[in-house]
Amino acid sequence: AFGLYTVHNLLAVNARRYRDRVALAQGGVRLRYEELNARANQLAHELIARGVRPGDHVGVLAGNTIPHVVALYAVAKAGAVSIVFDVKWVPRETGIAVNLFDCSLLIADRAHAAQLSDEAIGSVRCGVLWCDARRPQDCEFEGAYAKRPGDDPGIPVAEDATFMLMLTSGTTGRPKGCIKTHKSYLHSTINNLLSKRMGGGINELLVVPIYYNSGRVSLITQLSFGGTVHLRETFDATDVLTTIQEERIACIALAPQQCEELLRHPDLDRYDKSSLRVLRKAGLPFQKRSLEAIVKSITPNVFQSYGGTEFSEASVLMPEEQLTRIGSAGRPLWGMEIDVVGPDKQPLPAGTQGVIRVRGPSVCDGYYHDSEATAAAFQDGWYYSGDLGFMDEDGFLYISGREKNIIKTGGINVAPAEIEDVLLSFPEVADAAVVGIADDKWGTAIKAMVALRDGAAISEQELLKRCGESLSRYKLPKVIEFVDQISRDALGKTGRASAARNP
Ligand code: ATP
Repeated sequence: AFGLYTVHNLLAVNARRYRDRVALAQGGVRLRYEELNARANQLAHELIARGVRPGDHVGVLAGNTIPHVVALYAVAKAGAVSIVFDVKWVPRETGIAVNLFDCSLLIADRAHAAQLSDEAIGSVRCGVLWCDARRPQDCEFEGAYAKRPGDDPGIPVAEDATFMLMLTSGTTGRPKGCIKTHKSYLHSTINNLLSKRMGGGINELLVVPIYYNSGRVSLITQLSFGGTVHLRETFDATDVLTTIQEERIACIALAPQQCEELLRHPDLDRYDKSSLRVLRKAGLPFQKRSLEAIVKSITPNVFQSYGGTEFSEASVLMPEEQLTRIGSAGRPLWGMEIDVVGPDKQPLPAGTQGVIRVRGPSVCDGYYHDSEATAAAFQDGWYYSGDLGFMDEDGFLYISGREKNIIKTGGINVAPAEIEDVLLSFPEVADAAVVGIADDKWGTAIKAMVALRDGAAISEQELLKRCGESLSRYKLPKVIEFVDQISRDALGKTGRASAARNP
């Protein structure tokens, strides 16, 4: 059925209902719901004029900016599918994604132009539509956009049509695109609202990149329910505290490292944070030792969920449970089921560790053009997360590790195989293995063990410099250890999965 229940139609409804309410605020610009909707319509007309057809894929390379949000809604209004790239990527990584996800057009902020190679640009059928988030607010997109009509282009879009492909790091180093339909995405936003006891029309400060699951869910939740989103491209502790006080911010998602920075702020106690009704974690949970300080000095309204790009959120630990159930990821959200199963896929008794699987309406429809990875992770209506954990007698989930070969560093998933491939492409390197090691700041830090060829010489600095040409900064090893030989067990594994546990 052609749905009114689509992400962009909710914005159109809100534009009529809340007209003058501020939807987005950034750097002195306040964009009302009516204006945001009209701009998204104009851009949708521009995309259609450039040849974008329903079902096409449009890549978006922009930080947390107003044009980025306009682009997400415009792509949906044109009946197309958006794919947001990480602004931290180097050209090689962006190029891989452009090809892998069959982009027909790219919307890119000029500030990130250096991250798009000529080859990547040349490979998209409808070219690049540049924007500039730093230009005056009425002409942030180049081309004829500003002259296009502000009415809806009227492309019918079904509720179960794909809204976006959300990228997540695959274990091989190639990103995977989680297929998110309008319906499943809206379910994520409803559950976000319900589980955080939010209600509509509230103020959120968005410092987590829209590229990440937690950032995007925050954005679309507030805009679907009449809230105001204060966008930030970067995190600055003083700015966050000032904005919470001055804008009476009700909701914020923060990564553990960002929370630590707030806790270290010399004037933390002087700021009024009483408006905060929701502080939710992004990436990994807050460190046990910080929780009491967060509750005491920032807000007691802490919500920590079990999240993943494939299913959005499946469980939440409520504020009143934070200090009594330390280490738990809480209980399942409305409509979501979580099981802990053994190797035979049978549910295990309480207290027994196994693999966590999830099902429910916010689980994605598999991975785009990756039948092998889809068949491995999505079985019998369940998503097998690759996370290890157990349920206690009261139905609280505890996550104890990971069976998949992924390192989560600073809240970001990184595939050891991708870093190993880059190291192995250097002629001096005979063998390489990448593991996660416990780290106070990053939770888990990346360590590379490198065996050089006989007679070859290369410094740690030079290795890192060369890696930096192919890998984003966050994927670069924090420690490189030169070894004579890398020991592997019979299966060729280096034991990295067990080294890459959550702390
Ligand atoms: P974001 O960085 O946007 O918050 P996310 O954590 O929702 O992302 P992914 O980046 O896909 O989503 O990472 C999901 C993985 O993070 C999970 O499979 C799990 O390994 C880990 N994770 C998520 N929540 C928790 C938690 N509460 N406790 C421990 N690990 C978690």
